Amino acid sequence: MIELKQHFQIESARFLPHLDSAHPCSRMHGHSFKIILTFKGTVHPKLGWVMDYNDISNVVKPILEKIDHRVLNEVPGLENPTSEMLAKWIYEQVIKKIPLLTEVNVSETAQTECLYRGET
Ligand SMILES: [Zn+2]
Repeated sequence: MIELKQHFQIESARFLPHLDSAHPCSRMHGHSFKIILTFKGTVHPKLGWVMDYNDISNVVKPILEKIDHRVLNEVPGLENPTSEMLAKWIYEQVIKKIPLLTEVNVSETAQTECLYRGET
């Protein structure tokens, strides 16, 4: 088995509605979210790859267009857009089209990472 990882980035605005008003994340602010998707599969004996990165991009880009340069709170399912909820949202959208998906990693800052593997 081989794991492929592909990196994406979006810029989005959000606020976290359930926090005390003194918390900075309760206010509207933006992040450059770094998103890493992991796919696991077997190598095709002739092509020598698990999957074409271009095919991954062609599936993922339209999904990310729903959340790039937008207010995440306005996207159905992301009313409370923590990195945790965002990772789960992306996972659920992508796995419908690419069953080899195993992980979604979302970083909202250079110092943080949130990893979702599909368990609830
Ligand atoms: Zn934030």
